[in-house]
Amino acid sequence: MESRVALVTGGTGGIGTSIVKRLAQMGHKVATNFRDEAKGRAWQAQMQAEGIEVAIAQGDVSDADNAEAMVREIERQLGPVDILVNNAGITRDTTFHRMTPQQWNDVICTNLNSVFNVTRPVIEGMRERKWGRIIQISSINGQKGQYGQANYAAAKAGMHGFTISLAQENAKFGITVNTVSPGYIATDMVMAVPEDVRAKIVAQIPTGRLGTPEEIAYAVSFFIPDEAGWITGANLSANGGQYMGW
Ligand code: NDP
Repeated sequence: MESRVALVTGGTGGIGTSIVKRLAQMGHKVATNFRDEAKGRAWQAQMQAEGIEVAIAQGDVSDADNAEAMVREIERQLGPVDILVNNAGITRDTTFHRMTPQQWNDVICTNLNSVFNVTRPVIEGMRERKWGRIIQISSINGQKGQYGQANYAAAKAGMHGFTISLAQENAKFGITVNTVSPGYIATDMVMAVPEDVRAKIVAQIPTGRLGTPEEIAYAVSFFIPDEAGWITGANLSANGGQYMGW
């Protein structure tokens, strides 16, 4: 496979790190953003120690100007972005009747506006070069809803609408746009949940276990090769069978 330039937002996180590693192992030149420089540099050094070269740039994906500056810096370091994985995300969980405008806005800006903010600066170049891969990391909770996550579920469901519209607009330009919807993954976030609560979550998963970040990275990698060029506007559920709808 031709070596491409890949940008994974939130690449320093639990799932993002696995996606970065997988794309690098596929032979692509990979970049991600950091918000805290010291943390970003320490993560980059750890990747280097594992034999993975990653370009990094300061970037807050919830801010359009900042996200565009981050994309331009990555382009300066590696060249035009061919593969974009919109992975950065946060939760601010609470039931809706207690939810503050700040909790709503933080989640919508980071999880949904970010998709506009980062995709907008890369899409024209992909259209000119007639090749591109754009992959959103959504969530099972954007498919089925979740108690205490009206903000998160709204943002994650919004990603699907974005995916299927962008897929239609760009199919003729060799650009595919798809979504991966992970179920519960054994990242720090989920492992921090009390063990008895985690056991109840696992009881709802037909495979009888949490997923791994590597399994999500594999799902992302599926959309990238030229052979995947006919798969666009798809949503790939990777959830151990917990939800089998769209
Ligand atoms: P982590 O919290 O481990 O990682 C999140 C990453 O996003 C971090 O690198 C974080 O950087 C970055 N980030 C957060 N806000 C911003 C921002 N404003 N600008 C730039 N970067 C930002 O989460 P996971 O790896 O678990 O999740 C990754 C994605 O997968 C998310 O979109 C999440 O919603 C989704 N997901 C996760 C599931 C799970 O079970 N873990 C299940 C389903 C979906 P920083 O270090 O600066 O905070």
